[in-house]
Amino acid sequence: MTRFVDVGNMVRWAAAQGTEHILAEMVGYVEDDFRRWEDFDKKPRVASHTPFGVIELMPASDHETYGFKYVNGHPSNPSRGFQTVTAFGVLADVSNGYPTFVSEMTLLTAFRTAATSAMVARKLARPDSKRLALIGAGSQSEFQSLAFRSVLGINEVSVWDTDPAAVEKYVRNMAPLGFDIIVASSAADAVRGADIITTCTADKAKAVILTADMIEAGVHINAMGGDCPGKTELDPAILARGDVFVEFDPQTRIEGEIQQMPADFPATEFWRVLTGQAAGRTTAEQVTIFDSVGFAIEDFSALRYVRDAVAGTDFFDEIDLVASPEDPKNLFGLIGARAPHLIR
Ligand code: NAD
Repeated sequence: MTRFVDVGNMVRWAAAQGTEHILAEMVGYVEDDFRRWEDFDKKPRVASHTPFGVIELMPASDHETYGFKYVNGHPSNPSRGFQTVTAFGVLADVSNGYPTFVSEMTLLTAFRTAATSAMVARKLARPDSKRLALIGAGSQSEFQSLAFRSVLGINEVSVWDTDPAAVEKYVRNMAPLGFDIIVASSAADAVRGADIITTCTADKAKAVILTADMIEAGVHINAMGGDCPGKTELDPAILARGDVFVEFDPQTRIEGEIQQMPADFPATEFWRVLTGQAAGRTTAEQVTIFDSVGFAIEDFSALRYVRDAVAGTDFFDEIDLVASPEDPKNLFGLIGARAPHLIR
């Protein structure tokens, strides 16, 4: 039998644990896997692009466990009543190839993206950071805010979105949780005086959400909305102004902000900073940029975390996913006896 966490169980589990508690623990799992980066079988995700958006498969394996996520990115979906991003994921046992764990990952992707953002910011943002600027108040925005509070203690957020209804929704969700929220009148207004900037907008375009003149010394930019060929958020001059950190270089060159730069533009894989093999922030004035696109190891970590966290609880079901005849060579035997019309 395969363990399965559906949306209902994910919601019940998240409500029981508390979002900030989950985010803090998940950062530990993601960080553990980034520290053993070289043990993983890695490849850029497999993307199928259409005029509507993208559908991607994201595999990773540590040679004991194999994982993958199915995820879409359709920026025009909300205008048609659908979400921009939905996902599900699988873990499998490498020794026999059987799937052991299946989970919804629409919620889990928001958790893992926020956990990754906070993990990176804990290392790269100034330790005295107090204010987060959030550009884009869609599905990811609350998770991002909660991760920065849970991991970095940031409670002050200035928020900007071109859709006033998205900002209203953000305030409605976050104000009761005690966030000190400033509703900005533009992106420039939002980032003024911020220590950390998260850009989480969705547009299937080379957008310029931030220009170089808006960037103050010492800021950490968590650029997570630009994650596809032809879908970026930053003025290339910002990339030239700061130091760029990425997840998996071969994938980010295709999908990240640095797709706008020459092929030899310098970027540091974050796992190298985490393991002390590369420098992160070296001065208080340095501008650091996390060019986040989302990498398969983060999904692997998130799936591992939920699998472990729900073990021994009633927040999962067991599903009959793999046909398992008693005689492994007699697959037909499972249906033969039950399909008399097939027997002459
Ligand atoms: P969403 O559609 O729910 O929200 C996006 C918000 O951006 C919307 O409210 C929209 O009005 C706003 N927006 C669009 N253009 C803007 C602009 N120029 N200025 C200000 N606001 C603007 O999408 P989401 O699920 O929150 O995802 C946000 C982005 O993050 C998407 O592009 C998605 O592909 C990306 N994403 C990245 C990762 C990662 O790991 N890096 C993970 C998940 C999602």
